Amino acid sequence: MVILIKNEATDDQIRYLSDWLTGQGFGLHFSKGEEATILGLVGDTSRLDIDLVRALDIVEDVKRIQEPYKNANRKFHPLDTVIDIAGRKIGGGHFLTIAGPCSVETEEQICEVARRVKASGADMLRGGAFKPRTSPYAFQGLREEGLRLLSVAKKETGLPIVTEIMDISQLPNFEDVDVIQVGARNMQNFELLKELGMLRKPILLKRGLMATFEELLMSAEYIMAGGNEQVILCERGIRGFETYTRNVLDLCAVPVLKKLSHLPVIIDPSHSTGRADLVAPMSLAAAAAGADGLIIEVHNNPAKALCDGKQSLTPDAFDRLKRQIDQVLDLTRSFSA
Ligand code: PEP
Ligand code: MN
Repeated sequence: MVILIKNEATDDQIRYLSDWLTGQGFGLHFSKGEEATILGLVGDTSRLDIDLVRALDIVEDVKRIQEPYKNANRKFHPLDTVIDIAGRKIGGGHFLTIAGPCSVETEEQICEVARRVKASGADMLRGGAFKPRTSPYAFQGLREEGLRLLSVAKKETGLPIVTEIMDISQLPNFEDVDVIQVGARNMQNFELLKELGMLRKPILLKRGLMATFEELLMSAEYIMAGGNEQVILCERGIRGFETYTRNVLDLCAVPVLKKLSHLPVIIDPSHSTGRADLVAPMSLAAAAAGADGLIIEVHNNPAKALCDGKQSLTPDAFDRLKRQIDQVLDLTRSFSA
């Protein structure tokens, strides 16, 4: 339920109403925008007398939220959420480009890619340490050593890092990680999501292979219900019947998720297409569609990559693409001006 507060309401009146509501056991979310002030209520609102609340002096209107996700709902929080990652922002018009290899392989590899993507203007470094592989015989990632090497690359370049967690037991090693990624296969690992909800660190939540938008938002809700409001949604392609591409990039995710939610939405053109030649056109399309960022796989030697070389850009190709992305962003900003 959301309670729309009249503009002339004083802070004391709003506090009085908030105390009355929290006294009844509701969780409260306060959102003050230029146009309206909104009190979002989480809990079983069926026992609240909606007419009584509507009749209060300072209340403009009361609306029930039909959708099962509340914290992630734009009705609850009309303004875009802006997340600050070590001084880099995402959301609300701030675009974030994340680049790096699928997996951390060696110190030379991760540091070279980090240097190159930084020089091209990337805002963050990606790299998998714990890898969810379809085959148990495939490279599983360097695990703790991979995290250590990411920290070395971070220290050398100053780029914040994002990497995937597969199990909550790995969390103690994630101290130096700036954004924790929940991969597509773990989108509905609810125990993991609940634990990540206890943190106050940004979470990059990828859409599951067979997940609807509502299911993705419900997974974000699991994290937010614990008080961690820093969730970045990521479309990484869903399962279809086409075999030419690895997955089907559902670019509608950008306008749909941004309509339903205030959370930033990014696109992963690498896992969604599975092909390096499709990464540039899909990245540019994502930027034009209003995405808040991109996560792109870049490898210093894609032919020799231990994982996902086929979809990885070379640093030179990433450099060209980054300049094109910036041109598209300039163009779309001039549309709205
Ligand atoms: C990844 O980003 O390395 C990854 C495994 O992605 P996804 O969970 O989208 O498959
Ligand atoms: Mn990969």
